[in-house]
Amino acid sequence: MYDIIIIGAGSAGLTAAIYAIRASKKVLVLEAKSYGGQIVNTLDIENYPVEPHISGFDFATKLYNQAKDLGAEIVFEKVVDINNKDSKEVVTTKNTYSAKALIIATGSENRKLGLSNEDELVGKGISYCATCDGAFYKGKTVAVVGGGNTALEDALYLTDIASKVYLIHRRDEFRGEESTANALKSKSNIEFIYNSNVTKLVADERLNSIEVTNKDGSVKNISVDGLFVAVGRIPENQNFAKLINLDESGYVEAKEDCLTNVPGIFVAGDNRRKEVRQLVTATSDGAIAATNAVKYINNL
Ligand code: NAP
Repeated sequence: MYDIIIIGAGSAGLTAAIYAIRASKKVLVLEAKSYGGQIVNTLDIENYPVEPHISGFDFATKLYNQAKDLGAEIVFEKVVDINNKDSKEVVTTKNTYSAKALIIATGSENRKLGLSNEDELVGKGISYCATCDGAFYKGKTVAVVGGGNTALEDALYLTDIASKVYLIHRRDEFRGEESTANALKSKSNIEFIYNSNVTKLVADERLNSIEVTNKDGSVKNISVDGLFVAVGRIPENQNFAKLINLDESGYVEAKEDCLTNVPGIFVAGDNRRKEVRQLVTATSDGAIAATNAVKYINNL
């Protein structure tokens, strides 16, 4: 029996582990993929206090080592279910673990366009991470789809690598920051395609062009070597939905105390309903969730 099981070894989960261990609790962190979560895809973090420049991978590795060195047990198994019995039960594909309190810090996954051959073209022209895959498109033609900060930043990053970048957005104004949009507009190799959706991926072995349909019904085909999909993220809460209250978009309903509708079950990071999803708010959630989980256990 653990004191606290943390589901997810991203920035929120690993910070929660640090706080829980420093409060003398026995902690297990369960992670389905690899440590670090979403931040490992960021090439250069410029907005985390104290560290003016650090890569997402280095940040995640330092955080992982910090949690491990303090004594967190970190096990790579996918959680498929949780139960609220006398203790909290966490079921993975291999084992069942119990704890007095849980912290769900599973983050979010890429939203897909939903086109028929999208999955099979991942790594063959389709990417969800410009900082991971952009270098493969040096001197080539690429498109980015989306209108949020990720799409704008991805497009800006790619203008320095690719010879030509199309930014395709379904509306005529961006959701992302104006300053990034303005920086993008100053580039000579960007072309904006507004009020349009990517409606078809044309490929042989690899993606070679995309069909783009405008709101007015007109359709055009654009030759591209790569398409970067940046249309937002989906919270990874599906496995908890039978027990935990989610909002209409699938985020865990919890206020700043990070407590869910179930006593002893907390949430931290991007899969919580909140206004600002940043690295600093993910680590902040981790600290709050762990502190409140410790209080909960101490009052049992
Ligand atoms: P987002 O803000 O949710 O933007 C998603 C974009 O994709 C929107 O423009 C949306 O269009 C479009 N979209 C959604 N579904 C689509 C579909 N099926 N087909 C075509 N377009 C679709 O997601 P994000 O850009 O990944 O950002 C997520 C969060 O991280 C945001 O809070 C963002 O501010 C934050 N972020 C911050 C930074 C930074 O501060 N440096 C960097 C990256 C991300 P509509 O606009 O029409 O809805």
